[in-house]
Amino acid sequence: MVKICCIGAGYVGGPTMAVIAVKCPAIEVVVVDISKPRIDAWNSDKLPIYEPGLDEVVKACRGRNLFFSTDVEKHVAEADIIFVSVNTPTKTRGLGAGKAADLTYWESAARMIADVSKSDKIVVEKSTVPVKTAEAIEKILTHNSKGINYQILSNPEFLAEGTAIEDLFKPDRVLIGGRETPEGRKAVQALKEVYAHWVPEENIITTNLWSAELSKLAANAFLAQRISSVNAMSALCEATGANVSEVSYAIGKDSRIGPKFLNASVGFGGSCFQKDILNLVYICECNGLPEVANYWKQVIKINDYQKSRFVNRVVSSMFNTVSGKKVAILGFAFKKDTGDTRETPAIDVCKGLLGDKAHVSIYDPEVTEDQIQRDLAMNKFDWDHPMHLQPTSPSAIKQELDYQKIFDNMQKPAFVFDGRNVVDAEKLREIGFIVYSIGKPLDGWLKDMPAIA
Ligand code: NAD
Repeated sequence: MVKICCIGAGYVGGPTMAVIAVKCPAIEVVVVDISKPRIDAWNSDKLPIYEPGLDEVVKACRGRNLFFSTDVEKHVAEADIIFVSVNTPTKTRGLGAGKAADLTYWESAARMIADVSKSDKIVVEKSTVPVKTAEAIEKILTHNSKGINYQILSNPEFLAEGTAIEDLFKPDRVLIGGRETPEGRKAVQALKEVYAHWVPEENIITTNLWSAELSKLAANAFLAQRISSVNAMSALCEATGANVSEVSYAIGKDSRIGPKFLNASVGFGGSCFQKDILNLVYICECNGLPEVANYWKQVIKINDYQKSRFVNRVVSSMFNTVSGKKVAILGFAFKKDTGDTRETPAIDVCKGLLGDKAHVSIYDPEVTEDQIQRDLAMNKFDWDHPMHLQPTSPSAIKQELDYQKIFDNMQKPAFVFDGRNVVDAEKLREIGFIVYSIGKPLDGWLKDMPAIA
């Protein structure tokens, strides 16, 4: 029986290993973590993260061939294949602070593997890491080698939170990078055989190590760039009377562009896009490519611009101040169907409004009040360093909002600012609201308000 151990029971380690276990009953999968509360939660009825379909998958194989444990060393020592899925946040201090990936967690995992291993291991980079990390990991592992053979593979994860289980069941592709040596190829083949239990062979791509590492950063940079591109257009739409949804539809019909990921919004969030682009920027700078670094930096600048543009729009529409005004924020996680609040644009929007002394009430069915308080108290980049434990709150019953009732109870003029273009603006205008929808033609009130910065 092949034994797999995954270090890191987070948003990636938990779901990916649960899917491997459910699809490969003959493989024993143990997910280990240094955080006891996290492991306890994985072993309970209240999993530490919310993902549609995750409960069912975990229940189907937990205790059969899927286990969660804090006994990191024991399970690493016993494993044939070790996935490392620890967090790789942006460095907050020292060389490369604010840009480079902090590999402290990765390095300590690698040193521990070197210490406790007694048999040959395949070590798989599941975390998103800078290109060339495998070289550093190899050095750590082989430095104290007791005649043990380590093969390092890069197998970046492309799941999206909110659809993780669906993505893992039917991935667009699985990417495996390895050394181009006979031992390297053998290791790639061993991992390929695990995925081949449910992923069609033509969807399993094998490359050299550096291509696999870089592809993950490149994929996230391209995805984020698309969002920043459409968000940049949304500002121009508002200035000219064009409608960003019509523009997106029209350009998305071009098969070279395609229709996905073209929704204008208040900006991208989540633990990956910003962190991975900053990391890419840093790598470009270190490789003497400042033009390339600046090109990608712009994707983040537009994202920051979009968030502050939204706050400015709210404040300027309400007579240039929200001081003492009651603002209800609906939704706090970085997107729907997740409780993850890491780098959510809601944090910047709320902080912007609080900075102007608004009275803010926040509601999200998947996020606890404690978590929101913690997020609003945190400094930039600190969010991924302390254990960002997000206990799942039981999903509140999704209710339809009665906008007429809401309107009746609000001071007039009553405003709705839609950062995701999800409300029926026309219906709300009929009730009497002044509605702002990102990238859509502005109604009379908003047009007359002072120009935004
Ligand atoms: P996470 O913070 O949810 O989970 C990481 C876990 O690793 C934590 O529970 C932490 O306690 C544990 N850990 C840290 N050091 C450890 C050690 N030495 N030994 C044992 N456990 C340790 O992070 P995540 O969202 O799962 O992301 C993990 C990696 O995957 C990151 O590199 C991220 O960029 C990448 N990734 C994330 C996503 C996503 O959607 N979240 C998608 C693709 C890739």
